[in-house]
Amino acid sequence: MNNKVIIIGAGIAGPVLGIQLQSAGYNVEIFEARRNTGAEDGAFLGLTPNGLNVLLRFVPEAVLRKDATTGSMRFYNQQGKEIAALMTDYQRELYHCETLQVKRHRLHEAACRAALEQNVPVHFGKKCVRVDETEQGVTVWFSDGSSATGDILIGADGTFSAVRNSIFPGAAKPVYNRNISTGGYARLPELSAPLDAIRMTFGERGFFAYNVSDKGEIWWFNNYYRADEPTREEVKTVLKDEIKNELLRIHEHDDPLFSRIIRATEQVIAYPVYDIPELARWHTRRVCLVGDAAHATSPHIGQGASLGLEDTECLVKCLGEAATPEAAFAAFQRLRQPRVEKIIKSARKVGNAKSKPNRIATWFRDRLIGFFIKAQVKKLHWIYGYRA
Ligand SMILES: Cc1cc2nc3c(=O)[nH]c(=O)nc-3n(C[C@H](O)[C@H](O)[C@H](O)COP(=O)(O)OP(=O)(O)OC[C@H]3O[C@@H](n4cnc5c(N)ncnc54)[C@H](O)[C@@H]3O)c2cc1C
Repeated sequence: MNNKVIIIGAGIAGPVLGIQLQSAGYNVEIFEARRNTGAEDGAFLGLTPNGLNVLLRFVPEAVLRKDATTGSMRFYNQQGKEIAALMTDYQRELYHCETLQVKRHRLHEAACRAALEQNVPVHFGKKCVRVDETEQGVTVWFSDGSSATGDILIGADGTFSAVRNSIFPGAAKPVYNRNISTGGYARLPELSAPLDAIRMTFGERGFFAYNVSDKGEIWWFNNYYRADEPTREEVKTVLKDEIKNELLRIHEHDDPLFSRIIRATEQVIAYPVYDIPELARWHTRRVCLVGDAAHATSPHIGQGASLGLEDTECLVKCLGEAATPEAAFAAFQRLRQPRVEKIIKSARKVGNAKSKPNRIATWFRDRLIGFFIKAQVKKLHWIYGYRA
């Protein structure tokens, strides 16, 4: 057995994969660039039943539901009239859990804690810079000059994967897709009771969505179109004010509540969205990519984290059944790639539909959205009902 597994990245997929491989008899070690379990990055994300059911095997639902919002949605037109609702309570019967929104850093923290509690070592402050593969094994080099060697290595190190760059130096780099996923947290006395659903309004010049968490905090999100890719420095500095001012302008004729929420937000979240050009291969003989490292998707249908979680179950099964790691990695890619690519395409379509409305489209949307939403529940089954 190729027993020693090195995992790079303790985001979402890394720790969950580590726990499953350790239970399957592998000797696992995880290496993470961050200095601690869950460095705060501000963003929040959706977990849908397909991913949530994997995570709930290792993290109790009560932990996730502390500091969370519901995933149901109510849709409104610019006049504030409810035009449709997509509630998630039906999911509990079908999938035994319901979509929810959680803070990304809390998810990282919960996944890391679960791994540490299962005695899977997680080494923090270890930034992978290079991977060398030989006939005998695979060695990872870290920015502090240290290294670790194993039989196989899994790159769970996200969109800008150093593992991917190292094993496929010629692969196309992630492409900025002109959208910045934005949002934030705010508190307003008039809006402090938890809501049953995300309030999603198709405003005059763009959509605005908000919900209120179990802690009485408003979580809002929006899309910001920006043709030029922001630099890292801009993301940390001027971009947030640029977005705040622009969103206030976009929503000036919509419900004044939106502007109050935006103004009450101390730190606007700005998360530039990148597409990873399709990779011909996700693996070599001893190295395999999972999660965003293999297939990042835009956040429009909230599938990034859930796809990474699905990957983990599938890869563990493939490793258990195939004769060699390479055959397992090839089976993993064969099983996962068609689904992942279909979801990436759906996310792009939803992203386009959220863009600026025109009057005729708006008239039809207000009248037909209810039917589409009902049809959507059936249509979403291929996403939410998936089991590896
Ligand atoms: C800032 C940010 C905000 C996001 N917001 C949303 C959102 O609002 N909605 C949504 O659906 N999706 C969002 N996503 C995407 C979502 O988080 C991912 O789809 C999901 O986390 C994928 O899980 P993963 O485990 O593959 O990667 P990640 O969760 O990104 O984990 C990768 C881990 O690898 C570590 N790492 C990176 N490079 C190295 C290295 N060289 N050496 C060692 N470790 C390394 C990182 O620190 C990280 O902990 C966001 C992503 C980012 C980066």
